[in-house]
Amino acid sequence: MNLLFSSQIEPAQRWLPLLERALPQDRIYTEPRDDIDIALVATPHPGIFGKLPGLKLVQSLWMGVEKLLEDPELPRDVPLARLVDPGMVGAMSETVLAHVLDWHRHLYFYRRMQREKKWKRRGQSLPSDRTVGFLGLGELGTDAARKLLALGFKVCGWSRRPKRVAGVHCSTDLGEILGMSDALVCLLPLTGQTRGVLNAAAFARMPKGSCLINVARGGHVVSADLLAALDAGQLAHAYLDVFDAEPLPAASPLWTHPGVTVTPHTAALTEPRTAVPKVVENIERVRRGDAPLSLVDFAAGY
Ligand code: NAP
Repeated sequence: MNLLFSSQIEPAQRWLPLLERALPQDRIYTEPRDDIDIALVATPHPGIFGKLPGLKLVQSLWMGVEKLLEDPELPRDVPLARLVDPGMVGAMSETVLAHVLDWHRHLYFYRRMQREKKWKRRGQSLPSDRTVGFLGLGELGTDAARKLLALGFKVCGWSRRPKRVAGVHCSTDLGEILGMSDALVCLLPLTGQTRGVLNAAAFARMPKGSCLINVARGGHVVSADLLAALDAGQLAHAYLDVFDAEPLPAASPLWTHPGVTVTPHTAALTEPRTAVPKVVENIERVRRGDAPLSLVDFAAGY
């Protein structure tokens, strides 16, 4: 088969040697041709889709596909698969656990106290005193939820369709999950339904002094509402990895707000060593005539 690798962001030299080793019978190109069978893309070069008439699959090299779905040239009659990379799933859970423990052990508060040279001790809670809520119980949310359960936290989560995850209180009622969550982790895809979901009304429903961890997309949070909730003490702290504009502009008040921890969209990066076997699995499925895995539902937007 003929494969096209197209990305303005992912370095080809990190992917091509692994792909070539795993797929010795296939040819991998970096420029479009009319005999390409499968396009491997992450922010592809503009205009490529119009030059691929025989395409059988668009395979994203990222887990989030909202930017691809916004591309007016993306063919709607060709299946689009997103990447479910075990390395990335593990990395995301590490980030979520790091932030939950930072908040649970008051480390964000002690960093602030150190800057002010204040010896101020806070009380200790058991993990079982705390409920961590997930917006999104998909590949990423479910893995992190299970790992928090293993540490003894109570865990609940919101999904679009009813769901069962052992030990997790699952609900399709957003208000219920917000009201239970001492720490709220956003791991939703960005769609028309989820944009702006973390707004003043949502923060008002959360327990006073709770924390927010947004590792999904900047568009989920209404920043002005978040800053107001932090200033009012409704939220104790926010860990933000993703922003409406990236890199976060120097003028953004989020950079300097004492209640905000900023990281540069680095909660989980695609790891070609663990991602390539998944990409190869889908290529083999297309070769056999089987349906590819992790197909995007165009109507749902993820
Ligand atoms: P996923 O497997 O597709 O799971 C998405 C979850 O969100 C599902 O539980 C889904 O419900 C739920 N959901 C979607 N729309 C909803 C709605 N309108 N109401 C309620 N629940 C809704 O996605 P994933 O692989 O876990 O990834 C989630 C997102 O993480 C990605 O889209 C990406 O934007 C982000 N991400 C960020 C980074 C980073 O470094 N910061 C890295 C990777 C990914 P159902 O279960 O009912 O479908």
